[in-house]
Amino acid sequence: MRVSIIGTGYVGLPAGAGLASKGHDVTCVDIDEDKVNAINQGDCPIFEDGLPELLEQVVSQGTLTATTDTTNAVKNTDITFLAVGTPMRDDGSINLDIIKQATRDAAEGLKEKDDYHVFVVKSTVVPTTTETEILPILEQESGKTAGADFGVCMNPEFLREGTALHDFLEPDRIVIGELDDRSGDTLEQVYNGFDAPDELHDSDGHRSSAFGDAPILRTSLRAAELIKYASNALLATKISFINEIGNICKELDIDVYEVADGVGLDHRIDRSFLDSGAGFGGSCFPKDVRALIHFAEEQGVEPALLRQTIDVNVKQKTKLVDQLTDRMDVQGKKIAVLGLAFKPGTDDIRKSPAINIIDALKTKGADVHAYDPAAEDNMRELHPDITYHDGFEDTLSDADAALLVTDWDEFNDITLEHIRTMNQPLLLEGRRMDHDLPDENTDGITWP
Ligand code: NAD
Repeated sequence: MRVSIIGTGYVGLPAGAGLASKGHDVTCVDIDEDKVNAINQGDCPIFEDGLPELLEQVVSQGTLTATTDTTNAVKNTDITFLAVGTPMRDDGSINLDIIKQATRDAAEGLKEKDDYHVFVVKSTVVPTTTETEILPILEQESGKTAGADFGVCMNPEFLREGTALHDFLEPDRIVIGELDDRSGDTLEQVYNGFDAPDELHDSDGHRSSAFGDAPILRTSLRAAELIKYASNALLATKISFINEIGNICKELDIDVYEVADGVGLDHRIDRSFLDSGAGFGGSCFPKDVRALIHFAEEQGVEPALLRQTIDVNVKQKTKLVDQLTDRMDVQGKKIAVLGLAFKPGTDDIRKSPAINIIDALKTKGADVHAYDPAAEDNMRELHPDITYHDGFEDTLSDADAALLVTDWDEFNDITLEHIRTMNQPLLLEGRRMDHDLPDENTDGITWP
């Protein structure tokens, strides 16, 4: 099928490359000319495992091209995914300005087109947005009628940054919110032949027909929108829950990871998202939970649990600094911050605990030295006035303490020799690592 994707960020580009690899003819659209030029040269503008290789392949095969021309992209394709950002306003509510503009641009293409076309909202939007905001713009700007001249779907994306391509190509499930059968049928064709991840295959690892394809769930537009928020809110709540349990563990000298293992063996609960640490960040959980809180309030529903999920997380993000200042006055001290990305495998620092930690350290007069294998450039834009290093060895050297904020694999290579290069050999860990450092040189945020 001929597919256009508007927005080539962490969602749009993996989706574009993934669909091109499945045999679709993909046009990626972005207003950022530099990104478009890079993509057309086969250069991947974002840090994502496996994406540079696949992008180079599909661009050289001619199955993926990029453009800044939305009108023509829509005109010359059969289905359009809207994958632009839906950021948060200061009050926590969703900001729809970008997606509304992208929709207006897309409607120009629809206006000039005679064939049936399907618009798919892939961006995360609060329930009813597709029906009450996106669909009316498409109708008004194109002069066409939804359900007759064009179809509308809402297809939330569940990929995780760092494994975006894998998650897009092997999703746990595909949710298709649809205006009508024809819209949903058209979108379902795009996902023909998408496998479920191996875990969903049978116990012998065989891809039996019952397990081979990713399950497809067809729903109303607004149910699809809420499935995305409910999923993210539940995952975020699991993290805040285990962090609260972890804070209790810390007082009692209990290893929260033993507790998480014991709890997670219960198949009704599952072990995932029970890794206690320095709180969640990223472009999705904080923004989506706050948007759901704001939306619930507008509906007259008190989102008490969701509020606590955020409140626990806000405190957890700077707990490492509290633990450090309980031990020393950091004024004028060299403090190493290891890891800046909100999680390993990405250069994304949006809402990363490292931002709050650096803020707090700076406020207390610390001399902050930082290192991240991928996210330095992004953090430099926010915190240009700290010292950046090319490796953890250099960052640790002569430091008065170190805070480990992102669990990049390479931090497991920190040895006692590295710790001994510090002024005071102390590593406070906001993420659980797998290394052999002595207990007297390390302390965990929620474990002994
Ligand atoms: P992003 O900010 O990384 O990318 C958005 C892209 O859209 C940018 O390249 C921007 O230049 C482009 N853009 C903006 N306006 C445009 C326009 N009018 N026409 C064409 N391009 C335009 O965003 P993202 O992280 O990919 O997220 C996109 C959506 O998907 C959001 O709603 C987000 O909540 C949701 N989502 C994100 C993730 C994730 O892990 N990042 C996962 C699932 C869902």
